[in-house]
Amino acid sequence: MSSTYRGRIAPTPTGYLHLGHARTFWIAMERAREARGQLIFRDENLDPQRCKPEFSQGAIEDLRWFGCDWDEGPDVGGPSGPYRQSERHALFLQAWARLKDAGYIYPCDKSRKDVARAAQAPHPEEEASEPIYPESWRPPLGTGQAADSPGDTNWRFRVPDERCIEFDDGRLGPCAFTCLRDFGDFLVWRKDGVPAYELAVVVDDAAMQISEVVRGEDLLISTARQLLLYQALGLKAPEFYHTPLLCDTTGQRLAKRNRSLTLRELKAAGHQPANLRTSDDWWSGLEDSI
Ligand code: GLU
Repeated sequence: MSSTYRGRIAPTPTGYLHLGHARTFWIAMERAREARGQLIFRDENLDPQRCKPEFSQGAIEDLRWFGCDWDEGPDVGGPSGPYRQSERHALFLQAWARLKDAGYIYPCDKSRKDVARAAQAPHPEEEASEPIYPESWRPPLGTGQAADSPGDTNWRFRVPDERCIEFDDGRLGPCAFTCLRDFGDFLVWRKDGVPAYELAVVVDDAAMQISEVVRGEDLLISTARQLLLYQALGLKAPEFYHTPLLCDTTGQRLAKRNRSLTLRELKAAGHQPANLRTSDDWWSGLEDSI
């Protein structure tokens, strides 16, 4: 890897960060440092209902306490800003128009609930699995192509039938997901006027010239979706490195389960970042103390 390496950490400020986030971001930082590259902090504060400025600020404070630092970001500036997604709307809108003009996306009035009911999600207990949008609900090709703005409706990307999306993950090796089997038509724009995660992240990773995306392995299927977007938008895709998720001794993902593992609370309880970072098995080191 050369010094053209550009990595990023991209928290969503819907709550305070926990140890699972910190571990992923630490790995992202180490990979950028090892490659003598740059690290970008991007605030993914798109969701107007769930994102809060205090969590954006909290993420910066907590990660700095943990020992992370970055070369570009909302608090330090840089040439690829703005670094808050809420300030990058024009860029997302351009991408929406491009996808729409080329016939890749269509307006959709179905809610998440409708899709879940129709697909009768086979494994509702699996957080990462998303119900597959029924093919029979797709509108005819060309629907929506005359729209001059997204309006107040959802827009979905029409995935190519049965195509297998393959990529080489930096940690996991070869990965493959099949359209319409592992994932279906996915949201690119939300009816509340903001781009969906998949679109925003691709537009920003490309605009910020990210060369490697480091993130949790819960986003593996998202990587397959995003590769379709890179292709449709004519953008060069980065490399990917998916980190293991922090689990407790019963194998449950820590993230959703244990509020006492927010960085804030660990700090308040007197834990030292250096110990939290260097322990091989973070969870078992902490288990007795929480
Ligand atoms: N913002 C996303 C999250 O906090 C991560 C996005 C990404 O790394 O692609 O889960």
